[in-house]
Amino acid sequence: MKNPDLDWGSLPFGYVKTDYNVRCTYKDGKWGEIEVSDSEYVPLHIAASCLHYGQESFEGLKAFRGKDGKVRIFRMDENGKRFIRSAEGISMQPMPLELFEEMVRKVVKLNERFIPPYGSGASLYIRPLEIGISPKIGVSPSEEYMVIMLATPVGPYFKDGFKPTKVCLSREYDRVAPKGTGSIKIGGNYAASLNAGQVAHDLGYSVMLYLDPKDKEYLDECGAANFFGIKNNTYVTPDSETVLPSITNMSLRQVAEDLGLKVERRHIPYAELKEFDEVGACGTAAVCTPIGLIYDLDKKETFEYGTEPGEWTTKLYNRLQGIQYGLEPDTHGWCEIVEFD
Ligand SMILES: *Cc1c(COP(=O)(O)O)cnc(C)c1O
Repeated sequence: MKNPDLDWGSLPFGYVKTDYNVRCTYKDGKWGEIEVSDSEYVPLHIAASCLHYGQESFEGLKAFRGKDGKVRIFRMDENGKRFIRSAEGISMQPMPLELFEEMVRKVVKLNERFIPPYGSGASLYIRPLEIGISPKIGVSPSEEYMVIMLATPVGPYFKDGFKPTKVCLSREYDRVAPKGTGSIKIGGNYAASLNAGQVAHDLGYSVMLYLDPKDKEYLDECGAANFFGIKNNTYVTPDSETVLPSITNMSLRQVAEDLGLKVERRHIPYAELKEFDEVGACGTAAVCTPIGLIYDLDKKETFEYGTEPGEWTTKLYNRLQGIQYGLEPDTHGWCEIVEFD
């Protein structure tokens, strides 16, 4: 098939229809065969538990076309493990890791012509999701589940690319509850964050930076990305049970060490914001995005970190992207090269 007529260099972080998605259903106590579909729709019972009670989790990972033409999937085993934890966190049937990985490989191969060319800055985003599909009116876990994986080519998450973004902070919003679902990747957390995100947008900021929902003293999640700060040759990131354990952050901590930084994972008091030389947000979509300014909506206080990306944030970004695009040695074995038949 011919290449799609897409402007690879200016893709948004959005949905583009591709050729196929893959699906697998858990029924009668077991997972079925992987099905290939060219439909963009899901037939669902009107009483399906995902529709009424939010039994839904998801993942997000990327495949990159390298300079050498090879396609690399980044750390899918980690996404697969987190997909299991998310399912367990809302009483869904967890998908075995091997099956998860097989589905990821399959959806990437089936949509090969949508993997953006090297140099475009774009990549193929893979979105696995799991839903409870049994009809339920009483509140209880579903017996049957469906996992769907779609793939779509995406550009950078923040439309300005690798440029410092502005975020705001407020104590008036929580993404999740203190002992709630913050550490798992479920749609409900995102629904609960939409109002705060809208407030940030309307005021001209890219996202809302949250404080911890219990004490409102420590930095927590940065929109739907993890927060990090750099000072005294140290990469610091929150250790919080309400933060989603980001695989990008896990990778950046390793890269930071490789580059000679110290790494600290601990509570970060609000007061420390004024001590950082650089701050940023990280995630599969955001990669590693410098934050140039944080505005505290409640105290009307501004923290500034410069209008250009900082030295360390730039180094971290380049090394991570370098590994993903096959420009730097994959010393930690993070990438799986896709074998096309
Ligand atoms: C997915 C997600 C992240 C980033 O995780 P990655 O594994 O790096 O993509 C951060 N915060 C939240 C709330 C998320 O859902």
